[in-house]
Amino acid sequence: MKRSEVDRNKISPMMAQYLEIKEKYEDTIVFFRLGDFYEMFFEDAITASRELELTLTGKNCGLEERVPMCGIPYHAYKNYLDKLIEKGYKVAICEQLTDPKETKGMVERDVIQVVTRGTILDDSLNSKDYNYIGNIYDFEYCYGVSLIDVSTGYSYAVVLDHQQELLLKEILSHNLKEVIVNDKIDRNIINLLRESYHVLVTIRDDIYEADDYQYLTEDVKDIRIKTTVAHLLSYLVETKKGNLSHLQKVELIDHHKHLLFDIHTKKNLELVETLRNRDRTYSLLWLLDKTKTAMGGRLLKTNIENPLTDTHELNRRYGMIEKLLTEFILKEELREALDEVYDLERLSSRISYGNSNARDMLQLKNSLKALPNIKQILEELHYDKQIETLDDLVDLLEKAIHPDSPVSLHEGGLIKAGYHAELDELKEIRKNSKDFILKLENEEKERTGIKNLKVGFNKVFGYYIEVSKGNIKEIKEEYGWVRKQTLANAERYITPLLKEKEDIILGAEEKIIHLEYQLFMGIREIAKSYVGRIQAISKVIAEVDMLLSFALVSEENNYIRPILTDDHIIQIKEGRHPVVEKVNKKEYVANDIIMGKDTNILLITGPNMAGKSTYMRQLAITVIMAQIGCFVPCKSCTIPIFDQIFTRIGASDDLVSGESTFMVEMKEANTAIQNASENSLILFDELGRGTATYDGMSLAQAILEYIHDKIKSKTLFSTHYHELTSLANTLPHLKNVHVSAIEEEGKITFLHKIKNGAVDKSYGIHVASLAQLPKELIDRASEILNVYEHKNTKKQTFTQTTLFLDTEPETEAKDRIREKLESINPLETTPMEALNILYEFKNELQQSKTKS
Ligand code: ADP
Repeated sequence: MKRSEVDRNKISPMMAQYLEIKEKYEDTIVFFRLGDFYEMFFEDAITASRELELTLTGKNCGLEERVPMCGIPYHAYKNYLDKLIEKGYKVAICEQLTDPKETKGMVERDVIQVVTRGTILDDSLNSKDYNYIGNIYDFEYCYGVSLIDVSTGYSYAVVLDHQQELLLKEILSHNLKEVIVNDKIDRNIINLLRESYHVLVTIRDDIYEADDYQYLTEDVKDIRIKTTVAHLLSYLVETKKGNLSHLQKVELIDHHKHLLFDIHTKKNLELVETLRNRDRTYSLLWLLDKTKTAMGGRLLKTNIENPLTDTHELNRRYGMIEKLLTEFILKEELREALDEVYDLERLSSRISYGNSNARDMLQLKNSLKALPNIKQILEELHYDKQIETLDDLVDLLEKAIHPDSPVSLHEGGLIKAGYHAELDELKEIRKNSKDFILKLENEEKERTGIKNLKVGFNKVFGYYIEVSKGNIKEIKEEYGWVRKQTLANAERYITPLLKEKEDIILGAEEKIIHLEYQLFMGIREIAKSYVGRIQAISKVIAEVDMLLSFALVSEENNYIRPILTDDHIIQIKEGRHPVVEKVNKKEYVANDIIMGKDTNILLITGPNMAGKSTYMRQLAITVIMAQIGCFVPCKSCTIPIFDQIFTRIGASDDLVSGESTFMVEMKEANTAIQNASENSLILFDELGRGTATYDGMSLAQAILEYIHDKIKSKTLFSTHYHELTSLANTLPHLKNVHVSAIEEEGKITFLHKIKNGAVDKSYGIHVASLAQLPKELIDRASEILNVYEHKNTKKQTFTQTTLFLDTEPETEAKDRIREKLESINPLETTPMEALNILYEFKNELQQSKTKS
């Protein structure tokens, strides 16, 4: 039965209430609280029962047919909720707002928050990753994009030109799982985000207008940014419903401040996950992450995804690493101190939002207690940023919060003795009465002579005296006991005195729970007023943690401080690929990468498996490490600051868009060619391989010439088109290098050593002969190679002259002439006719030349 088919006049009041609420949350699964369960109805029930493997039942609600229903116990809802969110659903949590015991008629219910992938604020999040929700506001001449991580409060925004490609690049680069868009946006973008990138997209036009979060954009003048942020806020306020005052002021994204690369490059270089398994292990992030705190881990990831271009800041970071490496003891102390620090950013967000419990407060206290020590170490290291220590707050938490607090806020046990006099008094009363009951047990044992008599408690009957069946006969009427419950082998009794004490205990208990809750709320409110300061401390801690991680990794792996230069030169001595050297069992062969002012392109030749692509990646990774402020894997390194990196490495077909390898290759090449500057780094691995030999080779050559003459960026270009190596004769800024292999005891061994010049041409045949193919066959191959080589030298000059000179009208003219020639029979043509034809041909050629 569907919701749309329901006769509203017949349904029960509860179902009417449900339908009214559900109407406001059409695209959301509603968890509807009924007593101890969250129930789902109609389509929601069908979806949830399928996704969560729950039994689908039905509920009578006044209609002939039962309404589909399924439910989950409220105390165990979290796992189910997480599963639905993970699968991309939104869930609205609808609670009972009045106590059923005290309410006449219908209990009031309403949604207290909507949980979505992009707005989670609990500990189910990956602690080492941010969780941004984004929005796109299409102004029709430009796009506004903003991002907010609700779990930490970080907020960013940018205005982009009205180009879909730019927009997608921005959205994808932040790994957004959820995006809000306004209605003007092109539906193709929405479809692409939903279907190809599994982003949860919500279309809505609302703009947040109240004053509460004006501060987020108070420093921004651009009205487009204000609108964009307000658009995202309207969604957040409506879904989260609680207090979001932990959100931090919006920072404008400035692309010039960062070394840019697109997601293909991020994937190709395996910066945060590996290509094959999409696993963090063996990525650059994995290698560099020795952070102790969640904040440090997240900052490191952000840096790897967004390296810097500010020489001053990078040198500052190198300086700090150097300092840490010389101050061995302080470094170790700092490491230990950071161990004590929990996720301050997310703790403070939860405190501010109002969903933190006493255990969060204990984590906060323990983290804050580490601050004085950290502060002192930072001072001794002459660190240029300060942290404050929040001693008052530590004091309060130390005095107030019970060290063994439970998760729940509704069962007491939150507040320490000595914090609040009235609470202590109530606890004393409770304790005395409990002691009295213990005493009573002993007294009754003596009075009755029943040794195994015991006093117990349950929620239904309260305190009782339990006597086993065999001893019942010992009970005398004069005791005044009243039988209350019969069990299989025992009877339970109550007495007036027991009930009197029970009233006192339960009364005190109730008051204690209530009072503790109130006191806790007060403490949380005080902690909330510190959130801004805690966020400031967190930022410094995150940076210190990241730099400490750099220092540790650099020390462990012998990395050195790079020198950043304004000259257009790369001088890396004995460079290594940091991940390959770590993971490979074989000894890593270090290689120089030298590109002086006059060398912009290294053309790398060599057989498969020689190490060409590793060499190229090595440079990119070294550049990225240098531009996040880390030391680099080599003996010495002088490099300029790069503005962008473009790569075409490996055979990563774009499975998502279903395009062919070659098309992807050409698109990536195009991105580089259109966007690279003199200060960019381009890595092209075997470009052109995806098409026929001459086709691919011509393209490769044309691209090389274009980069050489027009773009002038530092470029590594590997190829197996040996013919391309002769380009070094005509392109002065291109240099040949090669990786070769040697024969050792009849086996091919790759030395992985990069050398100047081009690789030996007959290398393939050499390998074939080592593989002991018949001698006759090898000789024939050498013969054929000779012929090709002879042809190719001609071909090359031909391509060089014709590829660029032959114009379209000319080609058409030639085609026409050829056609005509073929149709002529010389034996039937008179000399005069022949002369005319010759004249006509010449004319046509002449004309085509002037046309072009
Ligand atoms: P190519 O691109 O020339 O086909 P790769 O760069 O993929 O070759 O390298 C092939 C293999 O050689 C890889 O397994 C890699 O780990 C190893 N390798 C590459 N360069 C080195 C090096 N300098 N030292 C040690 N091993 C290397």
